Amino acid sequence: MVLKVRKVDPLNPDEAIIREASEYIKRGHLVAFPTETVYGLGADTFNGEACLRIFKAKGRPPDNPLIVHIADLSELYRVAVNIPDIALRVVRRAWPGPLTLILPKSPDVPREVTGGRNTVAVRSPAHPVALALIRSSGTPIAAPSANKSGRPSPTLAEHVIEDYAGDNDIEMILLDAGPTFFGVESTIVDMTRNPPVLLRPGPFTVEELRSLFNTDIVIPEFARGGLGEADAALAPGTKYRHYAPRTRLIVVECEDYGSLIMLLRDTIIDYLNKKLKIALLITKETANELMKYSEINELPIIIIGYRENPYTIASSLFDSLRSLDKLNVDLGIARALRIGVLGWP
Ligand code: AMP
Ligand code: MG
Repeated sequence: MVLKVRKVDPLNPDEAIIREASEYIKRGHLVAFPTETVYGLGADTFNGEACLRIFKAKGRPPDNPLIVHIADLSELYRVAVNIPDIALRVVRRAWPGPLTLILPKSPDVPREVTGGRNTVAVRSPAHPVALALIRSSGTPIAAPSANKSGRPSPTLAEHVIEDYAGDNDIEMILLDAGPTFFGVESTIVDMTRNPPVLLRPGPFTVEELRSLFNTDIVIPEFARGGLGEADAALAPGTKYRHYAPRTRLIVVECEDYGSLIMLLRDTIIDYLNKKLKIALLITKETANELMKYSEINELPIIIIGYRENPYTIASSLFDSLRSLDKLNVDLGIARALRIGVLGWP
């Protein structure tokens, strides 16, 4: 493979580098680029063959559709049809930003992008590098997250290199603009249903969504956080194992914080008694609590952020999962996190 890595300033991307990357897009090659959520792996939306290369590079099942990224509202009409007024009102306020809408698809969008569906996912990313790349390419860019299928999404260029450095048959440029801002994928809302349905929780809280849409939004059980199963018919991407570290990971969940600490402690001691090598993925606050127990305070700990500020956790979550794999332990133990949708237990 030829994976060319180009460093770019996140706020003032070098024009020559953006032009080089947009030539890749125009020629049907792939560009990995930063957005405000995670790194995406992009191709020209209207070039079905180029989009197929994304699936091949990622090892992604063909029925898991991509998100079309646009830079200007006028491009929405190139990829979607019968756009409801409410969707237009919402995107005028929320774009560019981490909100993806599902809309009826234009016949010009190839089936590779939508996994054969008659709907298309669209958003306008709020990252100067992503916007510059789309504008310079002169076409909407279809992109899923840039990780290999099943792996945690990349929030650093190094994560992309980790996943693709071994490949030798992909022509690809990686625009390295440092860490992404949010660290979790965009919120997805299906606008082809009335009332709209939340398909994937993300950076927007439910309160923010309700105020943005100024209408009721259906929040399916699986989108309420916790460990429930998703409805694959609604959100195709959730049908597959995803965002997973290679190391076995146990997630401890408890309504009340005091009981959570006790349950975590008991779980850790249980597995230590089984002679397993353990690492913990916990918040700074939880680490402070657990440090009081001598059996625990020698264990490797990955701090996933601050409990009082969910955004710190969102931005380091995927990197924490990748870090776990580098520790060479038998088992990771994490506390359950509910970011964004239901508030914070
Ligand atoms: P990724 O950005 O890697 O999470 O991939 C895009 C995700 O968007 C997919 O996993 C799907 O769950 C979702 N998606 C894309 N297009 C559609 C669609 N037409 N209907 C429902 N969900 C979609
Ligand atoms: Mg993904």
